[in-house]
Order: sequence, then structure tokens, then C-alpha cells
Amino acid sequence: VLYNQVQDLKGTIRVYCRVRPFLPGQSNGQSTVDYIGENGNIMVANPFKQGKDARKMFLFNKVFGPKVSQDQVYNDTQQLIRTVLDGYNVCIFAYGQTGSGKTYTMSGPDLTSEDTWGVNYRALRDLFQLSKTRVDFVKYEVGVQMIEIYNEQVRDLLVNIRNTTQSNGLNVPDASLVPVTSTEDVLELMRIGQKNRAVGATALNERSSRSHSVLTVHVLGKELVTGSILKGCLHLVDLAGSERVDKSEAVGERLKEAQHINRSLSALGDVISALAQKSTHIPYRNSKLTQVLQDSLGGQAKTLMFAHVNPEPNAIGETISTLKFAERVS
Ligand code: ADP
Ligand code: MG
Repeated sequence: VLYNQVQDLKGTIRVYCRVRPFLPGQSNGQSTVDYIGENGNIMVANPFKQGKDARKMFLFNKVFGPKVSQDQVYNDTQQLIRTVLDGYNVCIFAYGQTGSGKTYTMSGPDLTSEDTWGVNYRALRDLFQLSKTRVDFVKYEVGVQMIEIYNEQVRDLLVNIRNTTQSNGLNVPDASLVPVTSTEDVLELMRIGQKNRAVGATALNERSSRSHSVLTVHVLGKELVTGSILKGCLHLVDLAGSERVDKSEAVGERLKEAQHINRSLSALGDVISALAQKSTHIPYRNSKLTQVLQDSLGGQAKTLMFAHVNPEPNAIGETISTLKFAERVS
């Protein structure tokens, strides 16, 4: 590898936990997050329990508290993302119950202010900037794909946009791969993708909490002196909400959606923990999501999961299952 920035990225799976703040106007109960340590530990307290069972400690690679800015979060993600230009595959997942901050981390609250941009836009801006500094050594081509996985079916969100034949062999099958040369191009595509996502859905928020959205950035680099080719790929995944649906309440479509979500999130957990344990059998075939990402999970690929926590007292059940899920894959 030409530009080796992977020295402290040993191991291929990392988990960051992010606690969102209370929202303005929200009932101001006591936060369930008792303590966040410097070294990646977090203590949660169950307000509905007493004694030593009420508190539980979890350990991750990092924990971001409610005051940590988008910029700070990106700082701790940047090094991993930049390895894509060296030919690595990177998958970043946002996990958590609906309302815990997944979309905030990945995209941000709105596109108009760069200060609050999420990982998606910062990553692309960063990759373009970094690739420019290497212009004398490597010629890069960048392309993006955007899909949504809903009820185990893949939907191409960039379907009507000029397509390209460029391929680095890591494509999401059958989804348009659109070349981009600037952050503006990407912003434009994301707007189109969001719009396509909303078509047919009663409410975008509703739909987005029940589907996985995957933004894939493909990088093809040609080293000018040696002529060798670098192929890298970054998947940015805003997962469906992880909340358990009450079986007695969900019926029909809603129940089907819930079953698909549960199945695909546990399949993802199974794949990542099998990778973490260096198991010989990795069960990719159990969900559409893991099938689509198969080539980018495992091997030399690097995975980062953001486990999102809503600190409200009545979210404690989901908070604990999120932290347990995240602990299992790390
Ligand atoms: P999810 O995608 O998990 O359903 P959202 O990202 O939509 O959740 O977040 C829910 C609400 O909380 C939104 O209004 C969002 O702007 C806000 N929010 C989430 N995380 C943060 C944060 N770290 N700082 C400030 N507001 C946040
Ligand atoms: Mg969301």
C-alpha cells in the first residue's frame, strides 16, 4: 500500500457508541446514561430497577456523549474512511432504535448547513480533497450507488440517472453506479435519492425507519508510475430501526416489515460477530443486506458500527438491547 495510514486500525471490527442529547421540548426525565468514560466505557442505569441490577457497564472502542459534535465524530472516523483511497473496503453502519440519531450521524439534520453535515457528506468531501493532494501519483475515479432495502427487496434510488460502465468489481448488483467528481455532484444525487425514496411511502420518516439505506462510494485509482490499480469501496448504511415490535399489536404489512427487519438485523449481527471471532463459516446468505455487502464484509475489509442511544427513561429497554447487540459484534 502506497499511503499507509492503517497503523492503529488493527482488527477489522470496531464499535462506537453515540448518545444523543435530550431534544428541545422533550420531557426532561433523568438520562439513563450514568457515566461515560474516556476509554470507551458507558454505564447505563435502569430507572425502573433497584439495586445492583439497575446498572450495567458496556465497553466499546469509543463512546460519544450528547455534546459531541458532528465534526468530532468525523475526526474519529476519518482515518478509517481515508483507507478507501488506498484500496480498502470499509463498511459503516448506524444501528439503533428509531429516533436514536442514526440519520443524524450518517446524514445530519439537514443538508443546508455544513456544520451539521453527517459522516456521508464529510466522507465524500474528504475523499475528494485527499485524492486531489495525490493527483501527481494516482488518478482516481469515484462513483456512487444508492439503494434501499425494504422487505428484503433492493430498490435502486438512482435509477433514472445517467449510468456508467465503470466498475471495480464490487458493485451492488443491478443498481446504477453514477460517476461523481465533486461534493456538489454528491449532494445533488443524495437529493434525488431521497426523493425517490419517498415515492409511494406514506411518510418518509415512517418508511425510512423500516428500511435500510445504503450509500456506496466506489473508488478506482490508477497509480501513474507503476500502472497498478487500487480498488476501494465505502458503504454507508443507515439501518432500519432496531426496536422490537409488539407482536400482539402488529398485524398484516406492519408485522411482515417487522419480521424482515428483525431477521436482517440479526443476520447482520451474526455475520459481524462471526467475523470478529474469525469463524470459518460466515452466514452471509441469511439476509439481503448481508448478501449485498458480502464482498465488503470480511477479508481485508474494515467495519465500524455506530450504536445509537436515546437517553430517555422510557427508551431504557431498547437502549440495553442496542448496547448488548453492539457488544456482541465487537
Ligand atoms: P433515527 O434516524 O435513528 O430515527 P434521527 O437521526 O432522525 O433518528 O434523530 C432523531 C431526532 O434527534 C432528530 O430530530 C435529530 O435531529 C435529533 N438528534 C439525533 N442525534 C442528535 C445529536 N447528536 N445532536 C442533536 N440532535 C440530535
Ligand atoms: Mg432515520
